[in-house]
Amino acid sequence: MTRRAFLWTAAAIRSGAQGRLPVPIHRVMDARAHCTPEQLRHFWSSIWPEAVRDFSQGGIELQTTDGPGEVRRSAGDNPILVGLRRGVINLVLTDQLPLYWDNSLALAGTTTLWDGNAMSMIALPYAHGNQVPFLSVNTCVHELLHVLLQDIFVSRPQWYQSDGREFRVDSYATGLWLFHDGAAIRESAQACLDRLRPAVAART
Ligand SMILES: [Zn+2]
Repeated sequence: MTRRAFLWTAAAIRSGAQGRLPVPIHRVMDARAHCTPEQLRHFWSSIWPEAVRDFSQGGIELQTTDGPGEVRRSAGDNPILVGLRRGVINLVLTDQLPLYWDNSLALAGTTTLWDGNAMSMIALPYAHGNQVPFLSVNTCVHELLHVLLQDIFVSRPQWYQSDGREFRVDSYATGLWLFHDGAAIRESAQACLDRLRPAVAART
């Protein structure tokens, strides 16, 4: 190895090590969901690994835990989510979003701050991988970016803000997917994790 190549490699390793950000994801499979084996297989063998790879290419390591839980659709408006954890990003996997979010639109996912817990919910039958840059990206990447870019902390965005957020999220997702660019996401994600873990942030 030449001196120049050595220095370049050392710099690349250093910046890579410094730039990587671990992000805790707690996955909850809705015990009440009725997903087909094919939907489960497609999600676990294709959609989820692609999301992990896209984030990793941008220097973001998804560190996952799994736990039991369920989505209880109550007679009233608010669904009840069992199994969410505080201070991490919850990823709830189900078959159909509760009507509260879905409005019969057969949405692939939604993301919100629910009882103080960051939560992305994915409807497996409608979830998909990367399809069209800037327009149709991996469902998990899209929803998790709503958390990492801190959209969840804005309550009740107006319609024009919502549209802007969708485009922004898909642009950042495309940057991860095609250009392996995660610098701005990492910065926002660090701030997001600090906000989700106020007790930890206050101590450090
Ligand atoms: Zn969205």
